[in-house]
This record gives sequence, structure tokens and C-alpha cells, in this order.
Amino acid sequence: MTKQTKRVWFITGASRGIGAEITSAALAAGDFVVATARDPKRLVERFGATEALLPVALDVTSESSVAAAVEAALARFGRIDVLVNNAGYGLIGAVEETSGEDVRRLYETNVFGLLTVTRAVLPVLRKQRSGHILNLSSVGGYRSGPGFGVYCSTKFAVEGISEALHAELAPLGIAVTVLEPGYIRTEFLESKSVVDTEATIPDYAETSGKVRERAKSVSLQQPGDPVRLARAVVDLTRADNPPLRLPLGSDAVAAIETKNAFVAQELEAWRDVSVSIDFPR
Ligand code: NDP
Repeated sequence: MTKQTKRVWFITGASRGIGAEITSAALAAGDFVVATARDPKRLVERFGATEALLPVALDVTSESSVAAAVEAALARFGRIDVLVNNAGYGLIGAVEETSGEDVRRLYETNVFGLLTVTRAVLPVLRKQRSGHILNLSSVGGYRSGPGFGVYCSTKFAVEGISEALHAELAPLGIAVTVLEPGYIRTEFLESKSVVDTEATIPDYAETSGKVRERAKSVSLQQPGDPVRLARAVVDLTRADNPPLRLPLGSDAVAAIETKNAFVAQELEAWRDVSVSIDFPR
């Protein structure tokens, strides 16, 4: 592979989990990676020192750290080809059980952080008239459910932002794909990542409470393999026509099929009411 065909990746949350696996897969494919993390020492420990890797400090909730990381990336590689907005975390609890502070903190990372990084990188991609943005949503960005309502709402926001970006950036030669993993075997459901609401309300024991129990029992047993996911993501960035959405995992595909069927059935059942509110022609 010549230097010209190597791409430069910019990845948030590269310290562990999906971000770390995408970093490894991109390096294995011969590309350059600007791997970013709140604590960049962990990047050196994990990936070692190599010419192809630039470890940089970046907390998505800090605009100044984002700006400094993009500057460092350009100083070293002169361009950015693939942005992976991966940093994020989960929150389990019924909507009513979730405190305002927990909601705000989650949005700061999963939504406002993603927007901050995207705004910082887009001028580079627009100038190049090329690039690919990969936004980590979730199957929970396509369908919501008990116990994950607020988390899913952040991923619905990611989907809305991504769908608009896709349309705004296609004319400028920039691709956008929103990734929708199902349950992937990372530390996502471990206490160092996921936040459990402080409040638990007995009325939600059979809905949110059950989901909380299940999440604990599937942690580190999830069906999705982050290494295979990362390889699929690297392949995706080499496709001629990358999709707007890519579900990742058979559980994600099944959940999306179920939701599509439900929406189609409900749309049909209520079509007459839906169309009845237009002004008469
Ligand atoms: P992990 O908990 O294993 O890793 C999360 C990563 O995000 C860590 O590198 C963490 O850094 C980083 N991070 C969290 N907050 C910030 C922040 N403020 N600034 C910078 N980095 C931050 O989870 P996954 O790898 O599984 O999750 C990655 C993405 O995939 C998330 O957006 C998640 O919502 C999404 N996802 C995951 C699924 C799964 O089942 N695993 C399913 C669907 C979506 P640090 O090490 O410093 O804590």
C-alpha cells in the first residue's frame, strides 16, 4: 500500500471497547490513526508506539481539547479521512427514575460531544471535498424500550443528526454512515461505563427493573464480537456506496425488522385518521 492510499482516521473513545478495536483494525489495514482518549497514556499502553498512530488527549465534553486534538492531527498527518464518533456511554433506568443531572451529563457526551467533534472536523473534510463520518448510534437509536429510554433518546438524536448530515454532505463528497450495534461484548454494561439511576421506583420493577437485571446478566456475554465489528467497519469505509445506516449484529437486524413491521402495520391501521387532517382539496 502506498502512502497516498493510506487513510487518516480520527477516533474518539479509543481507549477501550469498540473504539480501541476500530483503532487496531485500521492500523492492521495499514492506515494512520489519530486515536483519542480522555487519558492518552492508556493508548500507548494498549497500542505501543508506532509511526502510524498519534495518541491524543480528547474529552468530547471539552471544546478546547477537541480543537487541540484536531490541530495535532493536522500537524502530524495534514488531513483526516475517516472520523469515528464513538465515545459514549449507557444509562439504565426508567425515564422517571432518571435525574435531570444524569440526563444532562449523558447528552453532554453522547450528543453535544459528538456535535462538537463533528463541527471541529468538518471544515477539514469540506476543504478536502472528501471523507467519511461514522457515527456510533445503536439499535437503540432505531427503536426504544423500557429501561433505556433516555439512552435511546441520545441515539435517536445521533440518527437525526446523521441523516441530515448525510444529505448536507453528499454534494460535498463526504459520506456519512450511522452504525447501529446490537449488544456488543465490551465493558459497555460494566459499572465503569454504564450509569444506573440512583432512584428505583417499585412501579417500574416489571419493565425497567427487569431490563436492568437482564443487562447485568448479559454483560461480557453479549453476542456481538467487537473485533469482527471493527473489521466490518474498516471494510465499509472502502465501499463505493456506503450505506446511511448499518445495523451490526443479528440482534440489531431482528429488532429493526420487528420495528419496521410494527410501524408499517400501525401506519396502515391509522392511515385514514392520519390523512384526514389535510385541508380539503
Ligand atoms: P465502552 O464502555 O467499552 O467504551 C466507551 C468509550 O467511550 C471509552 O473509550 C470511554 O473512555 C469513552 N468515553 C466515554 N465518555 C467519554 C468522553 N467524555 N470523552 C471521550 N471519551 C469518552 O463502550 P463501547 O465501546 O461498547 O461503546 C462505544 C460506543 O458504541 C458508544 O457510543 C456506545 O453507546 C455504542 N454502543 C455500544 C453497544 C454495546 O453493546 N457495546 C451497543 C450499541 C452502541 P474512558 O476509557 O476514558 O472511559
